[in-house]
Amino acid sequence: MSGAADGVWDLVVVGAGPAGSAAALRARQLRPEARVLLLDREDFPRDKACGDGIAAHGRDELARLGLPGLIDDHRPTRRLEVVSPGGERVHATVARPNHVVPRRVFDARLVEAARARGVEVRRHRVRALAELGAHVLVDGLFAARAVVAADGANSAVRRLIGLPATPERHTAIAVRGYADVPVGDDVQLIAMQREGWPAYAWSFPVGDGSANVGFGMLLPRLQACDLPGRRVLHGRLAELLPHLPARDLRAHHLPLSCGRPRPGAGRVMLAGDAASLINPLTGEGIYYALLSGRLAGEAAVRAAGDPLPAYRRALRGALGRHLRTTDVLARAARSPGFIDAAIAVASRRREVFDLLVEVGLGAGTVPPRLAGAVAGRWLLDGLRLRGR
Ligand SMILES: Cc1cc2nc3c(=O)[nH]c(=O)nc-3n(C[C@H](O)[C@H](O)[C@H](O)COP(=O)(O)OP(=O)(O)OC[C@H]3O[C@@H](n4cnc5c(N)ncnc54)[C@H](O)[C@@H]3O)c2cc1C
Repeated sequence: MSGAADGVWDLVVVGAGPAGSAAALRARQLRPEARVLLLDREDFPRDKACGDGIAAHGRDELARLGLPGLIDDHRPTRRLEVVSPGGERVHATVARPNHVVPRRVFDARLVEAARARGVEVRRHRVRALAELGAHVLVDGLFAARAVVAADGANSAVRRLIGLPATPERHTAIAVRGYADVPVGDDVQLIAMQREGWPAYAWSFPVGDGSANVGFGMLLPRLQACDLPGRRVLHGRLAELLPHLPARDLRAHHLPLSCGRPRPGAGRVMLAGDAASLINPLTGEGIYYALLSGRLAGEAAVRAAGDPLPAYRRALRGALGRHLRTTDVLARAARSPGFIDAAIAVASRRREVFDLLVEVGLGAGTVPPRLAGAVAGRWLLDGLRLRGR
């Protein structure tokens, strides 16, 4: 076995985005002598199509990984404005600030932190996996006691272990670019669109005179337009944010958590986008990538003999109720009227606004009393419309 040249790795991580780096960092944090290999097909720094928005929950994860100050040099953003598909508007200050850090910077810092913690980082594109007794053999080269597949939305490893891709009905697509804004602009704007709903544009100022701007929608809705995808995505972005002409446009798929697979097979654990852990209400995925990567890294060293059941339990404990909540809300949110009602209630009731942030960006769930308030308003709006 050629892997013998390297010996057996305690953990091989495929993909060095937030999920993969978190897995590698956590494994070494818990067992500093663990042999951890982090593979990515690209060299870092590298760009990644993303809104670059890092929620406070993501910063909590960085602290758990022992990197509390990793993005402290970036400006915290507290102001959030959301415009619903029917024009309801909420403008408020979030309880805990978000950050906007270009992925070229953020991901490279995570990889550097992993390297500094003793993780071996190599450029390598993974194409094959084989079970070999108590090990997994990666590309016939690296023998691992456990593998974390953190290779993103189009995960090759997920395919190699026989799990299907996220169904198209649970896949979104989004384009992002950068635009010039005044340095003092510190409002994160989300402007939803009724046409082709669910669909929205965003502007997330970085704090350096630029903003990450973008537009996303469900893949089947884009296909239904029967026009070149690029034309639709770029056109809608320009239509919704006409004052912010964007450069460096780049699009990518978002596998939403309503279409999530089993979290792995055998000694292979899926994390982040490879596990379809993107919030279907907001498109947020960095927090879930960091969280799931951390839990997978934990299982790899704490339950080395059979990590997958431990990982599955930990993931269920951390996100089970939240994921069931967003499954239900994503179904309700197919009606733009539901989102209009939620935003209308949030604009008047602070606790509803805070709750929407927790559900959209964190691991929040909805208490029945508040679900009732939104459903009541939704019903009322529906009756009013019918009465017209
Ligand atoms: C346009 C857009 C906007 C978004 N905006 C936000 C936002 O503002 N906030 C937010 O929280 N989330 C956002 N998301 C989601 C977020 O980008 C993802 O959820 C996040 O990047 C997931 O991290 P990851 O580590 O799982 O995967 P990735 O970040 O995709 O990393 C996967 C890594 O695997 C590597 N790789 C792939 N295949 C292989 C292979 N075969 N071998 C070796 N390496 C491989 C890749 O090179 C890559 O480095 C957005 C997504 C899109 C598309």
